[in-house]
Order: sequence, then structure tokens, then C-alpha cells
Amino acid sequence: MSDKDTKNPFEEIQKQLQELLKSNNPNVTVSPFVPTQQTMPSEPPPEETKEQNAILTSIQAFKRKPKEIRDYLDRFVIRQDDAKKVLSVAICDHYNHVRQCIENPRISEKEYNKQNILLLGPTGVGKTYLMRNIAKLIGIPFVKADATKFSETGYVGNDVEDLVRDLYKLAGNNAELAQYGIIYIDEIDKIAGSNSLGGKDVSGRGVQINLLKLMEDANVNLFSPHDMMSQMQAMMEIGRGGKKQNRTLSTKNILFIVSGAFDKLAENVRKRLDQGQIGFTSKRKEGEEDDSDFLKLIETRDFIDYGYEPEFIGRLPVRVACEALSAEDLAEILKNSEGSILDQYRRDFKGYEIDFKITDEAIMEISERASKERTGARGLMTVLEKTFRDFKFELSSTLIRNFEVTSETVQDPAKALTDLLMNNQEALNDFLFKRVEEFKADFMEKHGLNLEFSEEACSKIVEIAVKEDRSTSSVCEQLFKDYEHGLKIVSRNSGKNHFLITAQAVDNPDQELSKWVVQSFKDKEETQKEKQPEDSDETNDA
Ligand code: ADP
Repeated sequence: MSDKDTKNPFEEIQKQLQELLKSNNPNVTVSPFVPTQQTMPSEPPPEETKEQNAILTSIQAFKRKPKEIRDYLDRFVIRQDDAKKVLSVAICDHYNHVRQCIENPRISEKEYNKQNILLLGPTGVGKTYLMRNIAKLIGIPFVKADATKFSETGYVGNDVEDLVRDLYKLAGNNAELAQYGIIYIDEIDKIAGSNSLGGKDVSGRGVQINLLKLMEDANVNLFSPHDMMSQMQAMMEIGRGGKKQNRTLSTKNILFIVSGAFDKLAENVRKRLDQGQIGFTSKRKEGEEDDSDFLKLIETRDFIDYGYEPEFIGRLPVRVACEALSAEDLAEILKNSEGSILDQYRRDFKGYEIDFKITDEAIMEISERASKERTGARGLMTVLEKTFRDFKFELSSTLIRNFEVTSETVQDPAKALTDLLMNNQEALNDFLFKRVEEFKADFMEKHGLNLEFSEEACSKIVEIAVKEDRSTSSVCEQLFKDYEHGLKIVSRNSGKNHFLITAQAVDNPDQELSKWVVQSFKDKEETQKEKQPEDSDETNDA
């Protein structure tokens, strides 16, 4: 258990609770603790357990080869060949070591340097995506957090040990599986310590030290010392004599990946190289070099100069730089990477039974625009969202089932959408007319009253819907909101349940309804009057 447990602010409450439970005081009742999913590690359902066991067996008998992992990554991630190679080897080495230790426990007693990884490179180039895909392939739990959200003490901000607890939760509270998971910490360049360009970030150093312990081999308490609910639950379980859970998790086999853009560090390396080898950078053509070229040349001392604890950087023996992505790379992602963001848009539109074709020119236009965002592949998302947002909103309420995305669509989505709607006016109107039919069927089902709409009435409703940019059903619901009540009165008075909605009713729905209601009372009176003489005749006859 870490020394932080001794500083537990809830210790006093814990003690009192323990006393309370031990004393079995009959005057004190402890209401049953109803835990939330987050705080209560519960038994996973049998299906989940089966799946977890299968993953465990495959990890314990790990036999994948680096090339197999690289080939898998190639399906999803464009470029980053160095990173793919380095990561594939590191992952295989790590899980081979895990397997060997299981097969022969004496191996685990030998000195072993874990293959924790440091990934460098600009944002949005696939660093996280690579790791997520690896975790998916092997089936291991994967958690990601930003280094900036941690504080040294854990009392303000998050505690680095929370990451291990998150892994445990993600593994369905299966500690055995969680111990083989991957923890990914981004923005590690933001926690460089006081050496960093004259900064005095003491807490950054503190977080480094805490991470260092974790990366090595720590036993983390699964019930957070800062989370009172989870502490109380642990107490209750022990107090009730319930099944004692494994309370700590060793980080020995957890693989740690840390990453960051390190753009300032790239600049430092450039300066160092310029000083050491006169004109190193000037030999290169302008625009040819980017940060990743310098990140590849980083040495341990550059990290230390930047403000990292030597021990911290020493625990990250595998280092690899990811490259910036060009507009052509982004186009390649859209065209050829499995599960790309474009596939996601295809699925979204499929949800409304709509397909789209996209031209190569449109792909290039999107990629060039995305590249200008300077957020790597994330820029694609921004441009695609701008391009498709109104299409999704409008087309989902029409009968248009196909459209084409050209470079003009990307340049001016609003105009392209208007053109598409104008060219499909007929289909659009058909769709709106159909919605009137739907309203009619709905009204019949709910209220047992049959509405017949004249052709002119339908056209008028559609006209309002188009003019006011509303759905036909909302226009009908608003126009005829009192018809259920009014027509029921008419129906009671006259026995009618079939009504013709004319253009007049659309223009003036309330007036028309009042007319019908008044008329129905008059008709009723007439009928009764007509009946009365007959009745009195009958009486007279009698
Ligand atoms: P970071 O490098 O900042 O960790 P991510 O890996 O989270 O960036 O990338 C964000 C998203 O962009 C990913 O989920 C993925 O969809 C896409 N992406 C980024 N880089 C690539 C790439 N090289 N190949 C394919 N898709 C990518």
C-alpha cells in the first residue's frame, strides 16, 4: 500500500464506522449501502466473465509476432511506419515476458526493464489511435488521461493511482485482467520540471515522481483513499463478513505509454544540432524539415535539460517519434484507412437510409482544408462536420436517398444543399405529402376519428411546412390541436366519425371547427324536435 494511505482524510470516519460495525449496537441501524456502478465493484455477469477468461488465457499464452501487429495497424493507421515497428516489437516483448513469467515464475525474480514507451509527435497524428488499436487487438483494457490533470498530492486534481483504479473498473473489476492493461498518459511534455526554460514547476516534478513509482512496480489500493464512498463500501464488506476482495493491484505488468508534442524540445534539439554541426539545418531546404525530424534525434540529455527527472526518463526506454501528416496523408486516411471518420459519416447517413458518393477532388479539398487546421487528422473531423452538418439535418426529412459530394460541396455546403433540394423538389413534396397521410393514420389510431384531407388542404399544409422550415407533422399538430376534443363532440352529437379537412380548415382551423361544433348541436336539436312530435303522437295514440 502506498504511503498516501496514511494521510487518508477519511481515516477517522473509517475508524468510527469500523467500531460501529464491530459493536453490533442494536440501537444503531446501518441502512443498506446502495452503491453506484462507479463505486461498487460487483461480480460481472457470467458472459462477461467468460470473455474475460478467454482474453486472460490468450494473454497468458501470448504468441503474436511483431509483423502480425504491424500488419493489423496498417489497416487502420496511415504512415507512422517507425512507430508501428517499434510499438509492435515492444508489445510483443512485453507480453512474451508476461507469458514466460507465468510459465516459469523464477524468471520474474530476474531483473527486467519494462518496455514502457515514450511517443513523441504533434497532435492528431495517430499516437493514441495506434495504442487503442493494439489494445483492441489483444483485448486488454486501455485507459488514457492527460498528465496535466494530476497533482502531486492527489487531493487537488487527480491522483495518478486513479489510473490503475480506472483500469480495474474498465476490466469489469477483474484484477487479474487489469494487471495486464495499458495506461496511456498524454501531454507529458507539460509536466517537465524546474529545469525547463527557467520554469519552477515543482508540482510537475512531483507528478513525475509519482508516475515513476507507478511505472516501476507499485501496489495500488483499489479502493481510493480519496473516495469516501468506496472506502465505506470496503468497510461494510469487511464488517458484514462479506467476501474479501483483492484490495491492491500490482502495476508490475501494466504497460505505460506516455506521449506529448514536445515542440519546444524539438526546437532545443534543432539549436543543439546547429551549434554542434555548423549549418545542420541550413543544409536542408526550407520547408523540408518538420518537428518530427528533430524529435527523432532527441537524446536522453535533451529530456533532462528540458526538466525531466533522469529516473523518470530512464523508465521510458522505448522512444519513437510520429510524423506530421501532410494533406496527401489525410486524403489517404479518408480513402483507405479502415474505420476512418468518413466511414462514420457514411454510417450516420445510412441511419437515415441515405448514401453518398464522394469524388477524389472533394477528398483532396477536404484534406487540404483539414491540413490548414494544424490539428492532424482531427482537422478532418472539423471540415467534414462543416460539410455534412446541414445535409444530415435536411436530407433526413426528405425522400432524397442519394447525393454526391464534390469539391463545390466542400467549398460551399449551403449552396450545394440548396441546389440539391431545388433539383429534387418533386421528391421533397412527395415526402411532405406522405407525412400528412401519417398524421391522418396517427389521428385515427389515437382518437378513432377519420380525417380526409382535400388535395388543396394538403398542398397548403406542405406550403406552410416549406415556408416555415418545419416538419409537416408539427404543422398538422399545431393547426389541428383542438380537433380531437372538438370532433369528439361533433361525433357524439351527429354520430359522424369521418371528416373532410378542406383548404378553409387549414386557413382557419378554429373557425371551421367551431362551425362544425355549433352545426352539430343544431342538427342534434332538429333531430330531437323531429322525433318529439312522433313521440307525442305515440303518446296520444296510446
Ligand atoms: P494523437 O496523436 O493526438 O494521439 P489520435 O491518435 O487521438 O491523435 O488521433 C485522433 C483521430 O484521428 C484518431 O481517432 C483517428 O481517427 C484519426 N487519425 C489520427 N492519425 C491517424 C493516422 N495516422 N491514420 C489514420 N487515422 C488517424
